[in-house]
Amino acid sequence: MITEQYDVIIVGGGMVGLTLSCLLAENDIKVALIEAQQPVDLNACAPYELRVSAISKSTQQVFKHIAAWQGMLNRRVCAYQQMHVWDATGEGSIHFDAAEMGLDSIGHIIENRVIQFALYEQCVKLTSLKLFCPQQLSEIKITDTGSEIYLADGNQLSTRLLVGADGAHSKVRDAANISVNKSAYKQKAIVAVVKSSLHHKDTAWQRFLPSGPLAFLPLGNGACSIVWSADNERADELLMMPEAEFIQALERDFEGTLGRVESVSQLAAFPLVRRHADEYVKAGLALVGDAAHTIHPLAGQGVNLGVLDAAALAEVLLRARNTGRDIASLSTLRKYERWRRADNSIMMASMSGFKKLFGNSQPGFSLIRNVGLNVVDQLGFAKQKIMRQALGLEGDLPEVARSTGW
Ligand SMILES: Cc1cc2nc3c(=O)[nH]c(=O)nc-3n(C[C@H](O)[C@H](O)[C@H](O)COP(=O)(O)OP(=O)(O)OC[C@H]3O[C@@H](n4cnc5c(N)ncnc54)[C@H](O)[C@@H]3O)c2cc1C
Repeated sequence: MITEQYDVIIVGGGMVGLTLSCLLAENDIKVALIEAQQPVDLNACAPYELRVSAISKSTQQVFKHIAAWQGMLNRRVCAYQQMHVWDATGEGSIHFDAAEMGLDSIGHIIENRVIQFALYEQCVKLTSLKLFCPQQLSEIKITDTGSEIYLADGNQLSTRLLVGADGAHSKVRDAANISVNKSAYKQKAIVAVVKSSLHHKDTAWQRFLPSGPLAFLPLGNGACSIVWSADNERADELLMMPEAEFIQALERDFEGTLGRVESVSQLAAFPLVRRHADEYVKAGLALVGDAAHTIHPLAGQGVNLGVLDAAALAEVLLRARNTGRDIASLSTLRKYERWRRADNSIMMASMSGFKKLFGNSQPGFSLIRNVGLNVVDQLGFAKQKIMRQALGLEGDLPEVARSTGW
């Protein structure tokens, strides 16, 4: 059996693993990417997928850099110009408008499948990248000098730098004995595609209910993708309801903001868990994306953080390679960890804080929330600052995520 040697082996070709593969292989790093499921292109006439992501400006910039953005535009994306957030227990609300910030849009809602296929399309063009897809791992052996990867088809690969981009239940993380700080949000996110009687007005809507946030995200055909996060008991009730009752509950909890709900697709539900790996790196190993952290979807940041992980790790590795340093050494990899752990921790703490603040129906909390939302809404500068951070326009961004103008 011949063992093929790679500079970097990436396990997991989801949105984050594919992005990292492109960023490294376009710079002549010899990469192997192992992905269990073959990405499938979308038929333009197919119904909208249940899984979508709100893509920030910085993520868009990374996708542009690796020439995958056009592939997404060629399929289907929905740019949104406004965002409206309000509290169910009072009058508090906050409204963001792209034009007020001098932007062409606040972000884009894109089906995960569209993102993944457009990235995959770029990956197959890169000669420094070998795709093992669809392919299952059978064993990971981590030694002092690197990693040996055994594939289900009998192939054997080896590398000095193994990257886990294999999602929340990462096998790479387990094989490296990296523990995870974990707590359940005790909520499930219900997702579906919904057609309402009124157009979404290219706006992302989110209403904070005491049982969790309900978002209507705009899609290109005028329909919306909903992400309804609710405490487990309420979510189970909603999932068990006959369609007409579910629609009634949805209209009521969304205050009929987009009129009547005319149809709803099948539902899917995801238990929400906050996870943060105790270490992102060891000598010869790094974690990116959901393998390193998962957060509540209320601000639509999970994949955006993961793409920034990929961009930061690529920048650190390329800088090391270009200055003759070892890309797999702990001192190189720690630079990536220091950079991204700080940013990810802030975002995770904010999401937990938001969930606690908005999930509390006591009058005192309700007052703070509503006054707070209205005050921020009136403060032009603070409001812009919050939004620019959330959009990925500010902060310690990797070079490929920065743009001089939108
Ligand atoms: C309801 C909901 C809504 C969300 N909305 C948003 C949003 O609007 N914006 C946003 O930024 N984020 C959002 N997120 C979060 C986002 O979906 C995740 O952060 C993102 O999918 C993580 O990408 P990833 O590539 O790290 O991991 P994954 O998407 O989990 O990909 C991991 C990949 O690894 C592969 N894999 C796993 N194990 C193996 C193995 N042993 N061998 C080979 N391959 C393997 C899998 O097949 C998969 O393709 C949302 C999450 C939820 C639950």
